[in-house]
Formats: sequence, structure tokens, C-alpha cells
Amino acid sequence: MNIHLYKHDLPDELDLGTSIAIDTETMGLNLGRDRLCLVQISAGDGQAHLVQIAAEMQPCPNLKALLADKEVEKLFHFARFDLAMLKHHIGPVNGAVFCTKIASKLCRTYTDRHSLSELCRELLGQEISKQQQSSDWGAEELTQAQQKYAAGDVLYLHQLRDKLGAMLTRADRLAMAQACFAFLATRTDLDMAGFETLDIFHH
Ligand code: MN
Repeated sequence: MNIHLYKHDLPDELDLGTSIAIDTETMGLNLGRDRLCLVQISAGDGQAHLVQIAAEMQPCPNLKALLADKEVEKLFHFARFDLAMLKHHIGPVNGAVFCTKIASKLCRTYTDRHSLSELCRELLGQEISKQQQSSDWGAEELTQAQQKYAAGDVLYLHQLRDKLGAMLTRADRLAMAQACFAFLATRTDLDMAGFETLDIFHH
């Protein structure tokens, strides 16, 4: 694993290809209250790029352009939260989305365990640490343990996308999953508009 840590923005001339894994770390899970602290990105090549976002947010044109790029596919685990955080704090996220949590729920119907660590363990035989999950991501200097944890959340999403994609195809639910991914931007807008806990499809 190779970790690159940056302040405020990705460096110029960093080419991450056409499919990137993204995760975010925040001060908490409340969209309106908690700020974005860290954006992690990987091209699936074992390298993790960590961008620290300061409390007094500074412009991040490279990160913003990458998120907005329609030609770059974005992989997430629980995209609903990350998309809302990124849109609210950085800018619109364009391009195809793949959410490993939604994919897992649609094809791994034999279990109710859909956490990233569970998927890594079962599908990849890979253990990832969850110990730093609730640490202080707003700290000015992130510890080695925090950086390693944050990187672990993006390093395996490409492999999981491949495994889950095959399982969705086997279950004949790939098109359904893709329709769900396409709806995520609207689901996120609903969250931001106050419909977070209301199921508008329910009777
Ligand atoms: Mn994470």
C-alpha cells in the first residue's frame, strides 16, 4: 500500500484514469452539521491519494474537476453519504456511479452483513481495520493509523466492483443495480432537501 497525503487539493498533472474509488471522512454523519475532513481516492492500483480539507475551506480546482468529470466512473461504498458530502462541500459529482453496498444488498441476499470490512473479508480474503473509524478526522495532522485506515477504504473497491458485478450478473440484477446507481444523485438531493428519513415510495 502506498499513501500520498495532500493538503487542500490533488496535485496538478495527477492522472487517475477513467475509474476511481472515492471515500470521505467527516466530523460525523449529520449532513447539515458535520464538515468534510478528508477525501480519499484510488485508481485501483494499490495507491491511495488522501486530500485533507481544512475547516476554512480553500479552493480545490483539481479535485473539483475530477469529481465533475463525466468520463470518470466513481466507485463508493455507501455512495449516498459520500455523494451528499462531496456535492455540499466540493461540487457536483458526475459520471457513472457504482456503490458496493447497494450491489451487495441486491446480490448477497444470503446475509444482512454488507459492511465494507465484511465484503473485503468474504469476497477478497482481505482484512481491513475499522479501528480509526470514529477518530478525530478534523485534526490538523492525521496519524499513521488514521492514514492507513482511510486508505484501506478505497484500495479494494475496484476488486469488489468486479466480484459484485459478476454476482449481480449471475442473479440477473445488474440492470436493476445500475438503475439504482443512476438514482443516487436524486436520492442525495432528497436527503439534502429534508427527505432523509422519509420513504416517498412507501404508501
Ligand atoms: Mn471511510
